[in-house]
Amino acid sequence: MAKDYYNLLGVSKNSSEEEIKKAFRALAHQYHPDKKSGNEAKFKELNEAYQVLSDPEKRKKYDQFGASFEQMGGWESATGGAHWEDIMNAFRQGGARAGGNFGGNEFAGFSFDIGDIFSEFFGGRASSSSMSGASRSRSSRGRDIEIAIEIEFLEAVTGAERTLELKKFDKCSRCKGNRAEPGTPLITCKECGGRGEVSQTRQTILGVMRTSGQCGKCGGEGVFPKLNCKHCNGDGMERVAKKIKVRIPAGIQNGEAIRISGEGEISENAARYGDLYVGVRIRSHHKFKRDGDDIHSSELISFTQAALGDKIRADTAHGKVELKIPAGTESGTAFKLKHKGVPSLRGGGEGDHYVTVKIVVPERVSAKAKKLLNELKEEGL
Ligand SMILES: [Zn+2]
Ligand SMILES: [Zn+2]
Repeated sequence: MAKDYYNLLGVSKNSSEEEIKKAFRALAHQYHPDKKSGNEAKFKELNEAYQVLSDPEKRKKYDQFGASFEQMGGWESATGGAHWEDIMNAFRQGGARAGGNFGGNEFAGFSFDIGDIFSEFFGGRASSSSMSGASRSRSSRGRDIEIAIEIEFLEAVTGAERTLELKKFDKCSRCKGNRAEPGTPLITCKECGGRGEVSQTRQTILGVMRTSGQCGKCGGEGVFPKLNCKHCNGDGMERVAKKIKVRIPAGIQNGEAIRISGEGEISENAARYGDLYVGVRIRSHHKFKRDGDDIHSSELISFTQAALGDKIRADTAHGKVELKIPAGTESGTAFKLKHKGVPSLRGGGEGDHYVTVKIVVPERVSAKAKKLLNELKEEGL
C-alpha cells in the first residue's frame, strides 16, 4: 500500500512548507524514540514523510506519482536508509547529549538544520547531494537521472515496454570502483586511522555538539589506493552506455514518472546508485480523449438510426464494441460502455468508455429519398 505522507503528517496537499515543518515538529516531538511516548517506527515514518514533503523537488515528484513510485520500489531507499542513520547518529552523538531532551528548541533544530550544521563544521565540500552528514561519503547516493519519453495513447491503456540507452557514470570496469590499480593495495589513511571520520566539538545553537565528520584527507574512505587505477585515474568510476528495459504500466497518466530504483549514476565512492526517473508523455489520439481512467469518443449516426434505433459498432481502446442505439435517441446522448476505459494504475478495476452519438444530417439526398422525406415532413416529422 502506498503511504500517504500528507496524511501521516496530518496536513493537506496544499500545505505550505511552513505548515509541513510545523506539523512535523509537533509529531516528531511526540514520537521521538528517546521519549516515554516515543515510537521509533512511527518516528521513522514521519521523518520519511518529512524528507519528501520538505524538499520541493521530491514533493513535486511525490505529488505527481506518489503511489506508483511506491509500486516501483518505493521512496524508502531515496529517503530513508543511510540518510536516516545520519540523522539518528547526529542525534545520539550531538543533540541528544547536549540538550538532554527534545522538549524545546534543541529539538526544533535537529533534522532540518543538521546538514547546515555539518557543513559549517566541515566546510563546503563540493557535492550535488543535499546530504552533508558526517558519514556522507559512505552513505551518499549517486545522482538521479531523469529522462522523458513519449508513448502512444493506446500504449498507456495496455502498458508498454521501452529500451532506453543511458549514458551514465558507473563503477570503473577495471578497478570495480575501488580506485586502485588491480593487484595493488589500498593503504590506510593516517589522518583518521582508517575510520574515515574525525571528531570535532563545537558550540552550536543546539549546545555543545560532539560530532564526527568525514576525514578530509581520504574523503571518508579510510583508505587510499597506493597506485591509482590507470583506467579511471583513481576516480573509481567511468562513463558508460547502458541499455535498460522500462516497463510502462497500463493506466499511466500523462506527465507521470516511473522510478527505477538503482538505475541512476554511481556515487563518487562507488557505494550506492541513484535512481532513474522516466517521465512519460502520452500522445493524443485522433478519436479518444482521456479523463482519468475514463475514455470519451463520439460516433456518427444517421437521423434514421436515431429515430428508429439501431445497433452500431463503436470504437474503444479495447476494439470495437456493439452499442445499441434506442429509438428516439437525441444527438449528443452519451452511452456508457462499462469497463472499456483505462485500467486503474492504483488497482481496483478500470474506467469506462463513453460514446457520444452525433446525428448526421445528409447534405445531399437522392430523388427517392427526397420524396420520402417530403412524406415525412407532411407527417409532421
Ligand atoms: Zn578504475
Ligand atoms: Zn582519513
